[in-house]
Amino acid sequence: MPIEQAPGVYPTLLAGYQRLGIRSVADLIRHYPSRYETRPDHTAVVDLVGGQPGAAAGIVARSRWVSGGWGRKGRFEAVLEDDTGVLRMIWFNSPFLRDKVQPGVRLTVNGKVRRVDGMAEMVNPRWRVLGEDEAPERAGPRLRPIYPTTEGLTSDRIAGHVSKTLAWALEQVEDPLPEGLRKDQNLPTLARAFEMIHTPDQEDDHLAARRRLAYNELLLVQLGVQLKCAFIRDHYSAPSIESSDRVDQRIRDRMPFTLTGAQDEVVAQIASDMARDLPMNRLLQGDVGAGKTLVAVYAMMLAASKGWSSALMAPTEVLAIQHYQRLAQTLTGADLPVHLVTAGMEVPALTADRPRLLVGTQALLNREGLTERIALVIIDEQHRFGVRQRGQLRQTEAGSAPATVFKKHHRPHQLVMTATPIPRTLALTLFGDLDVSTIREAPQGRRPIQTKVSSPEQMDHVLADVIERARAGEPGFVVLPTIDDRGETDDDEETVLGVEARARQLMNSPLGEFGVEMVHGRMPADQRQRAMTAFGSGRSKVLVATTVIEVGVDVPDAGWMVIEQAERFGLAQLHQLRGRIGRIAGDTPCVCHLISRPTTDQAVQRMAAIVKSTNGFEIAELDLQIRGMGEFYGTRQAGASPLRMARLPEDEPLLRLAGRDAKGIIKDDPRLMRPEHRLIRRVLELQLGESIDLIDIG
Ligand code: ADP
Ligand code: MG
Repeated sequence: MPIEQAPGVYPTLLAGYQRLGIRSVADLIRHYPSRYETRPDHTAVVDLVGGQPGAAAGIVARSRWVSGGWGRKGRFEAVLEDDTGVLRMIWFNSPFLRDKVQPGVRLTVNGKVRRVDGMAEMVNPRWRVLGEDEAPERAGPRLRPIYPTTEGLTSDRIAGHVSKTLAWALEQVEDPLPEGLRKDQNLPTLARAFEMIHTPDQEDDHLAARRRLAYNELLLVQLGVQLKCAFIRDHYSAPSIESSDRVDQRIRDRMPFTLTGAQDEVVAQIASDMARDLPMNRLLQGDVGAGKTLVAVYAMMLAASKGWSSALMAPTEVLAIQHYQRLAQTLTGADLPVHLVTAGMEVPALTADRPRLLVGTQALLNREGLTERIALVIIDEQHRFGVRQRGQLRQTEAGSAPATVFKKHHRPHQLVMTATPIPRTLALTLFGDLDVSTIREAPQGRRPIQTKVSSPEQMDHVLADVIERARAGEPGFVVLPTIDDRGETDDDEETVLGVEARARQLMNSPLGEFGVEMVHGRMPADQRQRAMTAFGSGRSKVLVATTVIEVGVDVPDAGWMVIEQAERFGLAQLHQLRGRIGRIAGDTPCVCHLISRPTTDQAVQRMAAIVKSTNGFEIAELDLQIRGMGEFYGTRQAGASPLRMARLPEDEPLLRLAGRDAKGIIKDDPRLMRPEHRLIRRVLELQLGESIDLIDIG
């Protein structure tokens, strides 16, 4: 049932529901309370304690409306009497109470108690008229659900709609969980779980409900992941590329460095994956500067050794060009052509007799038939790509079910690289089908980085520090979130500068003599490239930029960074940005200045986290803690994460249970064809269809 057809949902409330991602009553029922408030026990008025929530019942002795005037709010005042004393009550802006809270009426009220000169008082208490013989304790359940809200839609409003639709909705709920499993785990039915989560009778109810709902989500996700793995195993194959000592040596001879132990290890894992005819699906995570590119180059050369082409995709043109130049340089003299593929460029025809390396941006995605001759796809800095784009490159023309079960479909090996590690528990859940390799140590150590937070008012001090560093010959970055200025500001009326204005300003400041360059995404490619070259060669010491420099830009001796309006960046992003400096070994500390005026709790926590840690794995865990599951995906769209109730890492035990049960189910019934699995199958198709795609792509 569409939400607009639910009783009490007026058209004016629809925008709010839309913002919350609630389109149907089913969505509403899955809009879980974020917490519960305990309704206070009724006491005698004399026992109400100031500063605490309280509840009392009695007879209204007097009441009156006091009109406001001169722009002040009007208020309705009443006095409630029981055998022990009187309670003063004030409601602002509520003239309609005149007709309801009249003298002589029996009332139950609850709210926060104030003691004013010893007299008990409540402001805007909740109230209800009591029936003749009705006992006050029975007036409503003890636990009141508090729902996540949005502008124009209060928790009480939502609660009202839930309570009007719940009974009807629960009748429609079918439980996908096989009875046996449910009983084994001592879980309530799905309908009962929904009921308990919205209207718990007692403390334990919503905990039991939470457990069931979280288990449900985790089980479905685990089933989805495992089915997908099985599907790929059954229907797709990749070319088996076996290595040999000779091939290995030839590749290493081409490398500009001796591989580190960590790189060796990952290379061995990849070689063993690629030797199989099952498509590799591996994630390589390692902090910025860990040396992932060399591993990628190794894998591409391995593919080429058997005549296969491969593609390396980068999220920005700047990075694609940089990769292209490095690769071309590394491979001079080798009989292995490297091609840059960016928007509007020709792609060479791929033939079996001549392997090639394609390096490019998303432009690689739009080429038809490309994947047929490609054995290996490498995606660099995967977190920067849209989820959908990542999947595209890997898909063969017949991406769906193959026509015959005898011929498996070609699917390239895939290596996804990221400097934003996936927290461990997420790796087990949503990315359960990925093999993960990790490089923990950077090849040559790095200069330590000090991170300092300053307010915009302290910008002069920050610039003085930076000027000194530039004068000493050290290049650095000034990063801003936007290209253009922003007029609408938070508190003060001043304009917040964008990259263009700030770059102009710095050119005309004392910093100007050290050469100020600018890069952002709207500049023509050749201008951007010129700026990068000037900065990379040391002619310019100051690069003013947007986050285009977040990934891959490799100017190893850069030693300082100023990030303006830092509260507008995510934690992972701040870490990435900071990773652009201090990329050589040494003891002289680099500095990262965050200019920030955090206004939300989350922003304050982010600043604290980034100052505290320079370890990408630690930061990923902190990020998950601060943001919670829902938003972790970058797919901010409400409902995109299949996990609404399950919380990681807290729910890890439940996750393990669900993983084990999912295995059991699939082992007995690999295609979920049994009658008791009919509903699970349908739910997976319907509810997770989209997310399952996301999971596969990883
Ligand atoms: P990231 O993992 O961030 O992509 P890069 O691949 O850009 O890191 O490598 C970071 C730096 O380390 C580069 O300057 C690269 O040339 C250097 N590097 C990579 N591997 C080695 C190695 N085995 N020995 C020495 N330096 C290396
Ligand atoms: Mg890199």
